[in-house]
Amino acid sequence: MPEPSPTVAVVTGAARGIGAATARRLADDGLHVAVLDLDERAAKATADTIATRGGVAVGVGADVSDTDAVTGAVARIARELGPPTVLVNNAGITRDNLLFKMADADWDAVMGVHLRGAFLMTRAVQHHMVDAEWGRIVNLSSTSALGNRGQANYSTAKAGLQGFTKTLAIELGKFGVTANCIAPGFIASDMTRATAERIGVPWEQYVQDRAKAIPVQRAGQVDDIAQAVSFFVDRRSGFVSGQVLYVAGGPRG
Ligand code: NAP
Repeated sequence: MPEPSPTVAVVTGAARGIGAATARRLADDGLHVAVLDLDERAAKATADTIATRGGVAVGVGADVSDTDAVTGAVARIARELGPPTVLVNNAGITRDNLLFKMADADWDAVMGVHLRGAFLMTRAVQHHMVDAEWGRIVNLSSTSALGNRGQANYSTAKAGLQGFTKTLAIELGKFGVTANCIAPGFIASDMTRATAERIGVPWEQYVQDRAKAIPVQRAGQVDDIAQAVSFFVDRRSGFVSGQVLYVAGGPRG
């Protein structure tokens, strides 16, 4: 009997943070992983780390909000690794400000990466899933979807991703594809470090203060999110679709 072909996953924004942890975890789970990020060199460095751990990965540079870049990247991944049937829409940015000070460009940039990016990536990858009659889509939302001061743009995008996910679950379910959302609470990463810096609070102090407000009394780690992604991607999770899982150390962090 020939070996079944390995499952190919694309993780966006995977050069660092939650995306890199997710790429490592999916590789540990036996998937072949495309590490996609803005900076191809950084993406390749993460892919190399996976390879040194015995996994199979390629690093691909692309801006998820650029249609041509997305089309080219997905075609390249299909050529180099095989048709992708797992997609983790993780790439993200913040451009925080109170509403009255928020610039048009900050609104558009956040919508561009989170919403347009997830849309373009999913549209480009879905036909591989439909052809395979199997697929897994995991979108990164946030507890900010419930509302967060200074994040009118980000919370809107993260709430939008929840609606996007539920619609994907409805449209693609008959092709064996599930779509789910993970809404992390406070996770220690470069993104949250940048927030601490912006408001002028030392990182250790910031983590301690945030942890006090979290029921399990600690900050989340990137592997906490990778664990949840691994669950949704698992072949045995096929009856779980259209869901939003808050991974926040409590009901909403
Ligand atoms: P991070 O450390 O800032 O990493 C985000 C990655 O996305 C970076 O490598 C970044 O590349 C990449 N990226 C940004 N724009 C991109 C684009 N247009 N195309 C391709 N890649 C792009 O963030 P993180 O904390 O790991 O967060 C990952 C996801 O989880 C995000 O969607 C975030 O909103 C969500 N999330 C995070 C937290 C948290 O507490 N950390 C909580 C809730 C939700 P560059 O480095 O080149 O900019």
